[in-house]
Amino acid sequence: MKPMGPLPQEFVDQAGVLTIGGHAADALVASAADTPLFVYDMTAIATRIARFRDAFPSIDLHYAIKANPLPALLAAIAPLVDGLDVASAGELAKALMVKPARAISFAGPGKRDDELTDAIRAGATLNVESEGEAERGFAIGDALGLAPRMAVRVNPDVELRGSGMKMGGRASPFGVDAARAATLVRRIVAAGAHWRGFHIYAGSQALDAQAIVDTQAATLVLAARLSEEAGLAPPLVNLGGGFGVPYFAGDVALDVEQVGAALGDALAARAPVLADTRFAIELGRWLVAEAGVYLTRVVDVKQSQGETFVVVDGGLNHQLAASGNFGTVVRRNYPLAVAARMGEAAAGEVSVVGPLCTPLDRLGDRIALPPVAVGDLIAIFLAGAYGASASPSGFLGHPAASELVVERS
Ligand SMILES: *Cc1c(COP(=O)(O)O)cnc(C)c1O
Repeated sequence: MKPMGPLPQEFVDQAGVLTIGGHAADALVASAADTPLFVYDMTAIATRIARFRDAFPSIDLHYAIKANPLPALLAAIAPLVDGLDVASAGELAKALMVKPARAISFAGPGKRDDELTDAIRAGATLNVESEGEAERGFAIGDALGLAPRMAVRVNPDVELRGSGMKMGGRASPFGVDAARAATLVRRIVAAGAHWRGFHIYAGSQALDAQAIVDTQAATLVLAARLSEEAGLAPPLVNLGGGFGVPYFAGDVALDVEQVGAALGDALAARAPVLADTRFAIELGRWLVAEAGVYLTRVVDVKQSQGETFVVVDGGLNHQLAASGNFGTVVRRNYPLAVAARMGEAAAGEVSVVGPLCTPLDRLGDRIALPPVAVGDLIAIFLAGAYGASASPSGFLGHPAASELVVERS
């Protein structure tokens, strides 16, 4: 028997039925075309945003849309956040449907000229990732007769401890090394572009509040040092994010109030060069991951050499991360449940596998579940971030999953 991650309690009703945003799982499936289906609870997302606002009263909140770019979800989140962070021209186009360009920033190490053109023409801020990219941006701005808005993305000399994906403290394709950032700021100003400040992103999926506190404090010091070197005060410092969610057994939810209190203290003591600067935190996963549930239907239950396999109609083609093949070293189980038997005692050990012809397509490995029969709905939780859009939906030619946004009435 292997453990599963913690079940998000907000989806369990008194009768032991899975309800998402107040709607029973089988009713949601009936209202969509069929399984497989992603359901996103916008009320759960709004609750997290409200919690962030309370914990970080003076900080702007940006949503990193690569976590979940579904247009209906973006439209619902956009009015609740101060900015949207995008990483391609495709995401930029989606963001521009729901937010003014001035509230959009564009990061990513391989922006093509046509992408730079789209961003400069729209008036979005480029988080510039290299000197070469800045020069291409100036040339495009000149050709368009527009001054580009440019922040400098810094490859920090700090890393986010305990982060699932480290993006600082080492050689990196992201951003310019801190040692060259001030020179690039001066070049941006000299070229007549609008310098918007710094973007400093040190990692992702951290559950250790103290690690985030330390990283944010170091990021503030770095931003102050670079501003002094450049001789200019930044309008905005994007402090990154990296807030994690509990996916696996033993994971404990992040104490965002602790992070907020410590950041408040650090800001109160910040260097004078940052006195008039605004600060932003950009979050993807923490805002949306727990609000999403992936619903599949049991197609077969079979035995092999003493083990029971529950075969469902969707798998890593829609929810790659739950199979352990998206950025994890050791495969561990996401939380799973039988939608009609939430909280019921386990009947035995099963493995839940998807329909794809590869042994990688395993959503639950030797987990304890209540009785399961063909036709039952199986829910895989923590499906709101890096699910549908981060999975190889073309692999093996099954249809794409449906996606549904719900609100509690
Ligand atoms: C991916 C990414 C994010 C979002 O990360 P989460 O772990 O989903 O919060 C934020 N900023 C940048 C620069 C990113 O690349």
